[in-house]
Amino acid sequence: MHRLAQLDRRFLWHPFTQMRDWRRHEPIVIAEGRGAVLRDVHGREYLDANSSIWTNLHGHNHPKLNTAIRQQLGKIAHSSALGLANEPASLLAGKLIEAANGIYDLRFTIYDSNANPACESKIENRKLEKVFFSDDGSTAIEVALKLAYEFTRRVRGQSGKRAPAGQKLPSEGRSSRATPPKFLSLEGAYHGDTVGAVALGHIDLFHRSYAGLLFQTDQVMAPYCYRCPFNRAQPERADAREYRKCHWECIDKVEQKFSAQKKKGNPYAAFVFEPLMQGAAGMIPQPVGWLRRATGLARAHGALLIADEVMTGFGRSGVKALVKARSHRHADPRSYKRAHDAIQFACHHEGVQPDFLCLAKGLTGGYLPMAATLTTEKVFNAFLGKYEEFKTFFHGHSFTANQLGAAAALANLEILQNSKSIRSRQMLEKLLHEELQTLWALPNVGDIRQVGLIAGIELVKDWRTREPFALRERAGIRVCEAMARRGVLTRPIGNVIVLMPPYCTTPAQLRKMVAVLGDSVKATLRG
Ligand code: PMP
Repeated sequence: MHRLAQLDRRFLWHPFTQMRDWRRHEPIVIAEGRGAVLRDVHGREYLDANSSIWTNLHGHNHPKLNTAIRQQLGKIAHSSALGLANEPASLLAGKLIEAANGIYDLRFTIYDSNANPACESKIENRKLEKVFFSDDGSTAIEVALKLAYEFTRRVRGQSGKRAPAGQKLPSEGRSSRATPPKFLSLEGAYHGDTVGAVALGHIDLFHRSYAGLLFQTDQVMAPYCYRCPFNRAQPERADAREYRKCHWECIDKVEQKFSAQKKKGNPYAAFVFEPLMQGAAGMIPQPVGWLRRATGLARAHGALLIADEVMTGFGRSGVKALVKARSHRHADPRSYKRAHDAIQFACHHEGVQPDFLCLAKGLTGGYLPMAATLTTEKVFNAFLGKYEEFKTFFHGHSFTANQLGAAAALANLEILQNSKSIRSRQMLEKLLHEELQTLWALPNVGDIRQVGLIAGIELVKDWRTREPFALRERAGIRVCEAMARRGVLTRPIGNVIVLMPPYCTTPAQLRKMVAVLGDSVKATLRG
């Protein structure tokens, strides 16, 4: 065994990993990477088919990202944002605000497969004007959560003022504490592993053991067309969203939840969601029009919108569905004129602008841990006041607004807005769709779900019955192990195999990713 593998086995504890199983095999020790290829210490090459857990955008060792980081390193790596500003963070905040507001005041018409046109209503969109930097997806969510909580307390008249130590503010009565602002998130939600983010999550396997540590949040039905109890369609060889037969009961559930909470006299403070696709829930996509409808209901009930675009942001959710219309009329998806018109965020595909946009993973092109929570002037203003009023947002991290991360993020945005990058992403997305169709020939493939450059392939015992593999059968894990032996790396979510190629993946590499997945399913499950 390689000496680094030995050290790993002796000293490391890996995330989301059963370490007893881990120690049975020599781990793959990555030594370097270039483009979509990772190379291990033995010189073996692998395709990075999940973009290093959904972070990498333009490939490893990208010359522009490397240069940006090196140049910044020649100036300074890090100085604190507590009391100091810095060049790349100031520039980046401006660029993020620009990228995030491209669509906020436009009217959208969303076409879905059940009704044409659907959801023509104008949604009340907000302009995002302020950026709070942090370190990773979980902290981006914590920031949104705390801001939304405190903002709601303040606007609903529940005093947010802080009393100096040992003193009580007159307005801080018992009632304000008795009805703390409540949050609604989706079934199967995953927003990170810090305690606040876990409280918003609803994956029993990950979250149940910590129940005693958490504050209570509500969950509402999320669309999962393939396994939806309201979908009356028999299984077909297509994405379940396309052949579903339902009456949007999932949206009725959202409406019922908001109404019921309103009746209790404490309407939801915020609705937290991953737009277009729920990642860790199992790559579960929303049918076209769901986001628009659900967020429209949330707005109508006065809830703030917290969009978790940690996975879906920065072009991951695709450029194909680009809809930019200056009128009610449906615009040709290819009609954008300038490169920076290309949509970067999943929410914008349905013309939704949240009050909080949480970004991480791809923010730095997947190079460095950095995150951002974008919000509105209104939220920001609620934290302004005289020093002694203590309205300050008492939150921050040592590496907030780190210069190396910000320099990488600036280079990332530049590459993303380049028309060559947009075109190649569109081509890759189309090719991914075509290649995935070959997997329908396998009886163990139940559903294939693609949103932009994200794909989830749900493995089942038999596609005709949708019968799932029991988790203890480790079907997803075994298929991914077989893929690794064939030179393609990804991680399953239960029995869902994830394909999320870096944007620089060549057509030949993409074909290999899908072919290896197919071969591995055949070799492992023999369905
Ligand atoms: N939100 C979503 C949608 C995620 O997918 C993840 C991570 N997979 C997170 C939040 C948490 O991000 P991090 O692991 O960077 O804390």
